Amino acid sequence: MSFENNPEKIKELVDYHKKQFKQKKCMASTLDSNCNGKIIEAHTLSSGLMLKPISFESKVYAPPVANMSYSPYNKDIIQAFKLKKIGIGNVSTFNGFCAHHDKTLFSPLEDKPFYFEQQQLFMLMYRTVLKELYLKNASLNFIKSTLIEDPLLEMEQLLRAKGIVKSIEDIEKNKQKLDMHLKKEDWGRVINNILIFNSKPTLVASSPFYPEKTITGEILQDLLNFDIELSQLVFSIIPVEQNTKTAIIISYLDTEPNNTPNMFFNSIKEAKHKKAAIIEIILNHVENFAVSPIWYEGLDQARQEYFLKKMLLTSDTEHMEEEKEGEEIYNNSPFSEDEDWILESSFSI
Ligand SMILES: [Zn+2]
Repeated sequence: MSFENNPEKIKELVDYHKKQFKQKKCMASTLDSNCNGKIIEAHTLSSGLMLKPISFESKVYAPPVANMSYSPYNKDIIQAFKLKKIGIGNVSTFNGFCAHHDKTLFSPLEDKPFYFEQQQLFMLMYRTVLKELYLKNASLNFIKSTLIEDPLLEMEQLLRAKGIVKSIEDIEKNKQKLDMHLKKEDWGRVINNILIFNSKPTLVASSPFYPEKTITGEILQDLLNFDIELSQLVFSIIPVEQNTKTAIIISYLDTEPNNTPNMFFNSIKEAKHKKAAIIEIILNHVENFAVSPIWYEGLDQARQEYFLKKMLLTSDTEHMEEEKEGEEIYNNSPFSEDEDWILESSFSI
């Protein structure tokens, strides 16, 4: 039986969905036995380092938390994906660290300026990977519950669950490696490829993903092949140098199975329209991001609508087919007509 015409049941499932994403758990409990204090609403986009510099009246635009995973019962799909103006205290938080670990682990990021120190770069990746693991587990728990209750969803949801199980396995492996390196303070095991743009920051982000293609569409790895080990990277955007410049950081473990993260990085560096390419990466791969209100409200209607359309394309299975046809996405972006960001330097740490 499907629940299409059962509003009570739908409400129950939507509430259960929300509950999964509010579960309190310290993701660093595997690191040591020092968990202490209550589980807090931890920021994953740093408030001081990332959100404040792009905020206006302490607000930014960000995707609503509810779209963090696919909910088949969410009928108001436009509202679920439209960027919302949110106070920076409520952006990108999750109940994933105890007070002790949140304070001590991320102090190098939160309590001093960002100087591209190896430890700072390591902790940036660590926090993002742990949040992703938390979200993927929440998604899987929810899907499992719908499979039991609504067999009609089975085919589509099973496929989705299979993909999530695979990525949880991969992220777990990376987390174990990161835990090990962290204990030894072996920060150099994370490789960081960095681009500095001489442009005022308008977007901030930090999310992991598997790069499938370069910016120009060359295939890097086959995401549908569940038998091969895939390379993952963390893509971050951070304001630097008193918020006068923007850093793009591609971080990955030195044990990734192929050279995909580096090739993906080079394709951004060589992209004809770098700003458009970076916006496309955000819209195609990144869930954890925020946008400057001054920049976003200054966009014309076509560009704002493009933002929403692309977020729907990448997040809603009904629109997937349409996405596959749009191969030349980077060239068709309206942002490629804008003045480009100026690349000042490029380096690896
Ligand atoms: Zn803890």
